[in-house]
Amino acid sequence: MPPAIDLRSDTVTRPTKAMLSAMIAAEVGDDVLGDDPTVIELEAKIAQMLGKESACFVPSGTMANQTAIRALTEPGDEIVAHGDSHIIHYESGAPAALSGCGVFPLQGAGGQFGVEDVVAAIRSPQVYMPRSRLLVVENTHNRGGGTVWPLDRFSLVCDAARRHGLSVHLDGARLFNACVAALCRPVDYARHADTVSICFSKGLGAPVGSAVVGTSATIHRVRRFRKMFGGAMRQSGLLAAAAIHALDHHIERLADDHAHARRLGNGITAIEGLAIDLASVQTNMVFFEVERELGTAARFCELLSEHGVNMLPMGPQRVRAVTHLDVTGEQIERALGAIADVVAQSTAERQGDRRPAP
Ligand SMILES: *Cc1c(COP(=O)(O)O)cnc(C)c1O
Repeated sequence: MPPAIDLRSDTVTRPTKAMLSAMIAAEVGDDVLGDDPTVIELEAKIAQMLGKESACFVPSGTMANQTAIRALTEPGDEIVAHGDSHIIHYESGAPAALSGCGVFPLQGAGGQFGVEDVVAAIRSPQVYMPRSRLLVVENTHNRGGGTVWPLDRFSLVCDAARRHGLSVHLDGARLFNACVAALCRPVDYARHADTVSICFSKGLGAPVGSAVVGTSATIHRVRRFRKMFGGAMRQSGLLAAAAIHALDHHIERLADDHAHARRLGNGITAIEGLAIDLASVQTNMVFFEVERELGTAARFCELLSEHGVNMLPMGPQRVRAVTHLDVTGEQIERALGAIADVVAQSTAERQGDRRPAP
């Protein structure tokens, strides 16, 4: 059987040969002592791309979000964020554990919400209430389906929060996917936020690494909390070189991933027993539902991996597929064939169950 087509996440990409060459050629120092030239170069580059004064290179997107949250809040403060946020579901309870903050969850389709939702969530300044201190907005929104915030709506919610004295953090793990889809620049989103986190290890294809950007004063605090959380690294120029290479070579090509996701989504609409909302397929993520009759999403993914295609169950009937650098158009066609085979196999099994015992 050919190697598996891995659609579990865009984090599974392997560094390309060119990226590995860039890593091997990197000049390195000791970044805790502040003299790794490649880390310094990456931080200057990403800060400039996002129109901010300063940046800090960190090991993961979780650390990027959590150092930013810690830098912008005090224990007892409350964060306002969508109830489906990555910081709520996939960061091990870090806002509570590391910053002493609760999160007020907002609702809304596709991981988005409106100005009125933000304003209604902000608490009056009573001594007995938590202090609303930070709005976190995720773009693209992961659990929302890889959905893109329209720029005007994004700027309105951020500006409303700031008018009420809150800071704004943009969880931009996949901000470049959003920009490629919305045909805008990263600064167009970043200028409405105090801090932005960026992942190099997702669609951009680097093996490790994320960054936080913001004002020099905020990034100085982020750098302190990076050390406190155990994320300050030494010859990390090796990793920064991969991130620089990704920024130089892997942004425009995200459009290919988006086209592959659309093709996959379109193909799924034609398969009976599966349901998909094509409007939510805006970037490199495809979420779809498996009809109960066909079994669970977990069982579906198990059968699919026996056919050489890996996806992740994300709910009892919900499946997620993510396109990336290491997935070709031809593999998308093969994945669709495997999905159709698994559905046919599950349908046959179900009909077998219904036949009277001999
Ligand atoms: C992946 C991701 C992160 C960070 O994840 P790490 O695995 O810690 O790098 C943060 N936010 C969103 C929306 C993500 O998808």
